[in-house]
Amino acid sequence: MVNSPKFVFKVPKGEKKRCRSSNVNIVKGWTLKEGGLGFRDILTWNTAAIGKYVWAVATKQDSIWIKWVSSVYVKDGEWWEYQPNNSASWYWRKICETKEVLKQYYTIAEFSSMSCYSVKDVYQKLIGPKPLVHWDHMVWNRLNTPKHKFICWMAVQDRLQTAARLARIGVCSSPNCLLCDQQEEVHDHLFFACPYSKRCVEEIKSWVGFHTTHSGLQILISRIGNSHQTKFRRQVWYAALAATVYSVWRSRNGSLWDKCIPTVHSTVTRIKQIVRDRIRSVMPRKVGERSRK
Ligand SMILES: [Zn+2]
Repeated sequence: MVNSPKFVFKVPKGEKKRCRSSNVNIVKGWTLKEGGLGFRDILTWNTAAIGKYVWAVATKQDSIWIKWVSSVYVKDGEWWEYQPNNSASWYWRKICETKEVLKQYYTIAEFSSMSCYSVKDVYQKLIGPKPLVHWDHMVWNRLNTPKHKFICWMAVQDRLQTAARLARIGVCSSPNCLLCDQQEEVHDHLFFACPYSKRCVEEIKSWVGFHTTHSGLQILISRIGNSHQTKFRRQVWYAALAATVYSVWRSRNGSLWDKCIPTVHSTVTRIKQIVRDRIRSVMPRKVGERSRK
């Protein structure tokens, strides 16, 4: 049974313009595995939702509304080729506009062959596949605290407002690292080529038993992902790495705002405490003896 059309909501023109900005496009409609925040693209979802009425007309569903639009609008014409005239109501013209969008992705045969309509499946078709990222398990690891997840999500995409970036747009006078003042503060330096952050990550690697000579953030993520360890141990390593990224960024911000950089020892102690507390609070009940060591 198909009820009368209900539209989700109309996005104001100003908001549409804002959504087109490059920053939001990275996020819009991208799943966690694709590097986004898992938000749906609401305009595309709306199109997919309205598509249910296009499908209902195409498959001649048994409802009074279908009988009514068939007799008043479509009549004996071919639905896939049908064009509304200007006197048609607003909602009917909206459904016909949606049909034109769907025609770019489906033939009438494909569309009519759906035994039931799934808004989710049509949305996926409209959004299309996107390349997957290799860092989603690290960033969205359940042992990470939410603020660590967000800073890591920014850091792995080189999207934090580092001194080098702020200097380029004239917000900051010097592009140099706020922790060591030796090199430009870019992501690769901060995570973890900087002497300060390198010492932090080396101590944390040693603490969790992750033996590798590499120290770059991207390569550490790959190494953990490819290690032949239990899932729980990989989660702990990811959590320790995420806490290190967050704490280095926090120390760097302390230098900017409070003119005070915590010692490596205090930062490492804090990271260990955070990771321990987090594991205790969300530790899975069934963790093998090998992982607990
Ligand atoms: Zn530095």
